Amino acid sequence: MTKESRQWTLKSRPTGLVGPEHFELGTTQVPEPGEGEILVKSLYFSFDPTQRGWLNEGPGYMDPIQIGAPMIGSGLGQVLASGDPEFAPGDILNGTLPWQDYAVVKNEGMLPFTKVSTDFPLTWNFSVFGITTLTAYFGLREVGEIKEGDVVLISGAAGATGSAAAQLAKIHGASKVIGVAGGPEKCKWIVEEGACDAAIDYKNDDLAAKVAELAPDGVDLFYDNTGGPILDAVLLNLAEGARVVVCGGIASGYSGWEMPEGPKNYLFLILKSAKMEGFLLFTYAPKFGEAMADIGKWVQEGKLTVAETISEGLENAPATMQGLFTGKNKGKTILKVADPD
Ligand code: NAP
Repeated sequence: MTKESRQWTLKSRPTGLVGPEHFELGTTQVPEPGEGEILVKSLYFSFDPTQRGWLNEGPGYMDPIQIGAPMIGSGLGQVLASGDPEFAPGDILNGTLPWQDYAVVKNEGMLPFTKVSTDFPLTWNFSVFGITTLTAYFGLREVGEIKEGDVVLISGAAGATGSAAAQLAKIHGASKVIGVAGGPEKCKWIVEEGACDAAIDYKNDDLAAKVAELAPDGVDLFYDNTGGPILDAVLLNLAEGARVVVCGGIASGYSGWEMPEGPKNYLFLILKSAKMEGFLLFTYAPKFGEAMADIGKWVQEGKLTVAETISEGLENAPATMQGLFTGKNKGKTILKVADPD
């Protein structure tokens, strides 16, 4: 017995902004699962800027998605039938899934499938308990070596990683948290609803002047999700011994492997005895358990929460992905496909 399912495949490689025109919605026949295989019904998909990089031909941390192949993403799926002894019908798993209503998958991706708890809303697996919170946790602590009293500046502050980073910076004793976001409405939101003490609107403010005004003694820790002009403005305004955490570079659009121009003001790293360091979350995988214990405690204490922007319908997957690059989201971007049975 096979099951018919909608399926998004990659139609063409985007060279700039990704959009619905780069994908094709078709149907596929999903077979019964064989040995080691699992039949899942898709419930939710997470959207992450890194997926844009998977569409580029060239070197990456994984093979690029081929033209005509199903698009994939982090998903929550309900197990309908299983040839894998680790998963039983009714379980809800978190793992890399194709953008389909139903799929037969194997637990062999870069990150192993996990069974998710149903003690809290399912979407929390992507938002407050998701990889973006873990990214902020390790970026601030291990790379940024956050210290009590630090003046912390965060770009992409209204997004999933950035909004978690702002709260985590406060939890770790930052004296001031300055967030950068696009437009007055998001800037108001990161201060009034989020953990930022002040905001910079990168679309309208004079960046370097605003950083100098808000951090007159310099920025101790810059958690950078964007790169580009924001990075240059902060490099001009570093405190002695500052740390610049290179988490992401979404200002580049991740539109190819031709790298963007480097930061103009990097020589201030010398003048301020500062360091700038990138990282990949996956390298901290052995420490995920202890991080999740801390995160769980802060969630229970009401100190940590992540907003969610949830759209609905598998047919809207490509448009939802595009929204990450046009600033449609506040907090974590999620697509709901179906309720569990
Ligand atoms: P997100 O911040 O929830 O969404 C992306 C945000 O980027 C948008 O909301 C938009 O906010 C902002 N943006 C888009 N284009 C921009 C531009 N040209 N200049 C400035 N801001 C722009 O996404 P996320 O999943 O939390 O990821 C945030 C960053 O962390 C990304 O760069 C991602 O690649 C990186 N990341 C790195 C790791 C790692 O292991 N190093 C792991 C996870 C994520 P505005 O409306 O404010 O423009």
